[in-house]
Amino acid sequence: MGFVAVAGQALSDGLNRGAEEGVMLDQVFIHCPYCGEAIEILVDGSADSQHYIEDCQVCCRPINISVSFDDDGDPQVSVASENEG
Ligand SMILES: [Zn+2]
Repeated sequence: MGFVAVAGQALSDGLNRGAEEGVMLDQVFIHCPYCGEAIEILVDGSADSQHYIEDCQVCCRPINISVSFDDDGDPQVSVASENEG
């Protein structure tokens, strides 16, 4: 896979530039239902509840991700393995 560990500076610069462009993305950490690793996802805060599949960044298996927003507008993320539907 193309994952490359880089020293933090360049990576955080890229994230900061993205935020300045007005993209409403919330950074959320979830735990992979397969391997249990904490992985970071970006949630589109301008959308309503979402359901999609994202491959684990560690074990590359497909995670069912459900996102809803509470009364404060904070994202509530739940994950399930493919078998759980
Ligand atoms: Zn995993």
